[in-house]
Amino acid sequence: MNKAFHVVIVGAGVAGLVTAALLMQGKQREQLKLTLIDANARPLYSAADELALRVSAIATGSAELLQAIGAWPAVIAARACAYDRMLVWDESSTADSSDALRFDAADFAVPQLGFIVENALLVDALLGVVGRYAPELFFASPIASLEAAKNGHLVVLRDGRKLEADLVIGADGAHSVVRECAGIESREWDYEQFAFVTHLQAEQPHANVARQRFLSSGPLGMLPLADGRISVVWSTSEAQAQWATNAADDELGAALSIASDFVLGRLRVAGPRGVFPLRARHAEDYVKAGIALVGDAAHAVHPLAGQGANLGLQDAFSLANVISAALEQGEHPGDRPVLRRYERDRGGANAAMLHFMTGLNRLFATDSTLLKELRTTGMWLFNHSGPLRQRVVHVALGTRR
Ligand SMILES: Cc1cc2nc3c(=O)[nH]c(=O)nc-3n(C[C@H](O)[C@H](O)[C@H](O)COP(=O)(O)OP(=O)(O)OC[C@H]3O[C@@H](n4cnc5c(N)ncnc54)[C@H](O)[C@@H]3O)c2cc1C
Repeated sequence: MNKAFHVVIVGAGVAGLVTAALLMQGKQREQLKLTLIDANARPLYSAADELALRVSAIATGSAELLQAIGAWPAVIAARACAYDRMLVWDESSTADSSDALRFDAADFAVPQLGFIVENALLVDALLGVVGRYAPELFFASPIASLEAAKNGHLVVLRDGRKLEADLVIGADGAHSVVRECAGIESREWDYEQFAFVTHLQAEQPHANVARQRFLSSGPLGMLPLADGRISVVWSTSEAQAQWATNAADDELGAALSIASDFVLGRLRVAGPRGVFPLRARHAEDYVKAGIALVGDAAHAVHPLAGQGANLGLQDAFSLANVISAALEQGEHPGDRPVLRRYERDRGGANAAMLHFMTGLNRLFATDSTLLKELRTTGMWLFNHSGPLRQRVVHVALGTRR
């Protein structure tokens, strides 16, 4: 290939930025030209600001990957809360019962299970890394459509500009325009739950433990924050999420204290509020000639195990490896058979996680007494299952080697 191979990444979220950083750091970077486009203005982050509402659990394996590309030091220098224990229980039992699931970093030979990080901080740190390689960056530039071109596609921006791309990477999130314009169908189903999110001040210290209580209306996640507060993700009915959005602080604090079974004592509302509809989605194809999807553009999973961003990160690593290897071997990275290597690598793993999360959510939302008893027995067995427990947790931590 004489002319540089032009990759246009649509979407500067975690998945798009990690893909960009890896391509810019790859052995074949001399053969690449990279453009990154995002619909929003360039985000600004300052650690002097209040801790933002949107946070993610970044598994320890994902943190290692972010370290390898150079983004992690800026995250740690700002603020992130390591958690070394996880506690999961269901409303018919208590957090200290023998059938509660307990995960301790030491049991899995890792320094911590993961970190709770603001999404905006992660994006900021990744932009810092990507910026070192001076790719073409277009912020506040939503794409409108794709047009077929001789050797790839024309990416058409809403303001009328057109960019010629040998490969378009759709990293534009759950409502991906790239996916839609490429005519890629996705299977979707509604969880019939909404995620209500806020920060709380608890009576007792969080002690760097991530907690989740399964209620029949949906899971209640309580994640430790760097400033001592907790971030709550309450997956519940639309009506309850609406109620939580409008309730007075003391009413909401009381409701969440009850929902948490007072595991951290009384809870007090101490942050802004937000609501996100929860819908599972899986693209029928991840690739077409000249097009590849990564992150939420390819799959959206229930946030109950905090896996969405982590899966996007793994997609990015896989796709960047496939592109670099193809360039090294003189292949055209936009060819469908080449891109299929990425799809084969990630499609099955993501589908397995998606169905596992959907099943888990249904299992805990059941009213059936028989299923409830089986579930309690299953949790006890899982706690004592040795190798199975090791395997499942290492997959979730992204440390399966
Ligand atoms: C309540 C909640 C809690 C969660 N908790 C966790 C957690 O603890 N751990 C975890 O791993 N995951 C979690 N997730 C999931 C995680 O937030 C997502 O999986 C992740 O942010 C997806 O990253 P992405 O880069 O694929 O997409 P996005 O973050 O959605 O980024 C897409 C980017 O594309 C841009 N874009 C969109 N349309 C266009 C267009 N037309 N033109 C140009 N640009 C465009 C957007 O501006 C955006 O910057 C949670 C999700 C929810 C809802």
